[in-house]
Amino acid sequence: MKTLYYSHPDFLLHETGAGHPECAERLRTIAKALEAPEFENLIRLSPPLGTEQQVRLIHPLFHIEAIRAAIPKQDIQYLDHDTVLSPGSEMAAFRAVGAVCDAVDKVLTVQADNAFCAIRPPGHHAEPELAMGFCLFNNVAIAASYARQHHHLERIAIVDFDVHHGNGTQAAFYNQPHVLYASSHQMPNYPGTGYPSETGVGNIINVPLKAGDTGIEFRNKYSSIILPALKKFKPDLLLISAGFDAHKDDPLASIMLVEDDFRWITQELMDIADSYCEGRIISALEGGYNLNALAASVAVHVKTLMGV
Ligand SMILES: [Zn+2]
Repeated sequence: MKTLYYSHPDFLLHETGAGHPECAERLRTIAKALEAPEFENLIRLSPPLGTEQQVRLIHPLFHIEAIRAAIPKQDIQYLDHDTVLSPGSEMAAFRAVGAVCDAVDKVLTVQADNAFCAIRPPGHHAEPELAMGFCLFNNVAIAASYARQHHHLERIAIVDFDVHHGNGTQAAFYNQPHVLYASSHQMPNYPGTGYPSETGVGNIINVPLKAGDTGIEFRNKYSSIILPALKKFKPDLLLISAGFDAHKDDPLASIMLVEDDFRWITQELMDIADSYCEGRIISALEGGYNLNALAASVAVHVKTLMGV
C-alpha cells in the first residue's frame, strides 16, 4: 500500500496553555513513534496551507473572521472553557485543512491508496458556526465537502471512532443524504449529543458505548450496526475521524480499548473501502490524550493502513 503521512511544524504553533490535554507534545510523540524502521515506506508530506474557500465549504465567513479576531497577539485566549487560541492557531488550523484537502486530491488521483493526517487542532466538535471542544474548523467535514465539490463524488462515509461524539460533523451533514456519518462514543460524556435517535435523514448513525465497555462491546457494535450500514451505503470515499481517546489509558474517558482494537477497526474499514471505493481512505487525527497510548495506537493504525 502507498500510504501518505502528513505532518508540519505549524501544528505545534497552536498553543493551549500548561496542563491542557490537547497539546503540541501529542504530535511530537506520534512523530517519534513513526520514526521506527517499519515506517520507512511511509510517504511523508508537508501539507499546503488550506484556503479560506476550503474552510467556507463548511463554515460561514463570519465564523472564520470571529476566530481571526479572537486570536491574541501573545499568550493564549479562551474561546470557551476548553477551546483555546494562541498566536499560531490560525496558521495551524488552516494547515490542518490544507492537509486533509491535499490528501483528498492525492488519494482521488491515485497518487496513493490512503493517508493519515497528523494534524491539530482537531475538528469534529467544530459546528459550522461554533468552535468548541478544542476544535476550530471541522477538518474532516471540510474534506468530505471538498471531495464532493472538486472530485464530484456521490457518496462519502465518515466513520468517527473518537470516544466523543462528533457533534460538529453531525451538524454539518444532518440533512445531507450523500454523506453518511457513523460515530461510536461514550455516553454520557462530552458533548452530550449522539443519541441513537439522532438519525438525520437516515444518514446519521450514533452508537453509544458505556463507561467500562471494552473491545468486545466496541467490535460487536461495529460488526452489528456500523459496518453493515457502510456496506449498504457503498461509499465512494471513506474518511476516518481518528480519535484514540477510547484507549483504556486515556484520561478523558472510560472506554477500555487496547491497540489491537484500533488495528481491528482500521482493517475492517480498509476491507469495506477495498470492496466499494478502491481502498480510498483518508484518516485525520482527532483526540487521544495519554501520550504513550496515543503514539502506540497511531502506530498500529498507520501500520495497518500501510498493510504491514
Ligand atoms: Zn475525543
